[in-house]
Amino acid sequence: MSNQQQPALSFDPLTQKPLNNPLQIKKTVITDDYRVTSQALGMGINGRVLEIFYKDSEEKYALKMLYDSPEARREVELHWRVSSCPHIVPIIDVYENLYQGRKCLLIVMECMDGGELFSHIQDRGNNAFTEREASDIMKSIGEAIHFLHSINIAHRDIKPENLLYTSKSPDALLKLTDFGFAKEITTINSLATPCFTPYYVAPEVLGPEKYDRSCDMWSLGVIMYILLCGYPPFFSHQGLAISPGMKRRICKGQYEFPKTEWSDVSEEAKQLICHLLKTEPTQRMSITEFINHPWINQSVEVPQTPLHTSRVLHEEQDVWEKVKEEMTNALQTMRVDYDQIKIKTIEDSTNPLLLKRRKKTKKLHTESSLVK
Ligand code: ADP
Repeated sequence: MSNQQQPALSFDPLTQKPLNNPLQIKKTVITDDYRVTSQALGMGINGRVLEIFYKDSEEKYALKMLYDSPEARREVELHWRVSSCPHIVPIIDVYENLYQGRKCLLIVMECMDGGELFSHIQDRGNNAFTEREASDIMKSIGEAIHFLHSINIAHRDIKPENLLYTSKSPDALLKLTDFGFAKEITTINSLATPCFTPYYVAPEVLGPEKYDRSCDMWSLGVIMYILLCGYPPFFSHQGLAISPGMKRRICKGQYEFPKTEWSDVSEEAKQLICHLLKTEPTQRMSITEFINHPWINQSVEVPQTPLHTSRVLHEEQDVWEKVKEEMTNALQTMRVDYDQIKIKTIEDSTNPLLLKRRKKTKKLHTESSLVK
């Protein structure tokens, strides 16, 4: 087999982790290398994700197809850059092919045969899911987010359907996917804020990057809550996706830990959820604080308390699609709200202190030009 026909992702021979090579989009036809089937692995906003097989090894992969656009290229580029993280679904190959007369990007990924996070837990039968297992799962997701935030990428769409298991086996790995809303956080602060350290920094001065990251932390809080009891912290009573009432409850942080499911859950876990679901985005825990929290990094100390999660998920199966829809909509609302935060440039600022400084500088300039 020639080099060109091999999957584009090369692996470190020692660690077996993918190496971060620059992305090379192949212009050859995907069917030269892969057998494409019509078997759907899942359904997303961009259509079906298909099961495909690498012809030389008959190994199974997943294929996602996007119409070519600058946004699609950005998604692929970002996803490719983070493919070396053990808790992110790696991209193996990307092709640019014509499909029904339109230019498409065909993304070949590792096939996540274990399905979605909560289906995995729901399918456990009599085997009770414990608080310690919930801690291990949160650690995996936390590591993926830590990896992203440390290189200034916010995912902004962390939700149950984007957390997939490699297989159905007990030692399967949980990985994060779908970089369709991921955003590279550029630190425009240095250009927009004054060159002194203020004692008090208003949230809007901190810049949208804080909000983008905090959106991921909110998701962590919601997922952790569901993991520990089987239902979400905020409900839409009218059955409408993100009703005004639900938005108000999210904004006011109105959620509870009902006794039936929560009485045996540790206080530490509940406190951690409270830090993640803080209503003020800038007060939410950072990912570094999260992964250093004892409930996360000392998992062996977390009690093996049996939880109600599998049972509740099983009983509430019929509303699960609604729960997922609500989380999708809540995240969408958050992205819109946060994206509307604008940072004033220093020229446009009406801060009185700044105006005073400006006047002073102007006066000095005039005086010095007079001296000349
Ligand atoms: P979209 O961006 O179009 O919403 P996603 O990337 O979220 O697409 O994928 C849609 C669904 O397809 C997922 O929820 C999941 O069920 C399935 N899926 C996605 N990627 C894989 C994969 N690598 N292996 C197996 N199933 C996958």
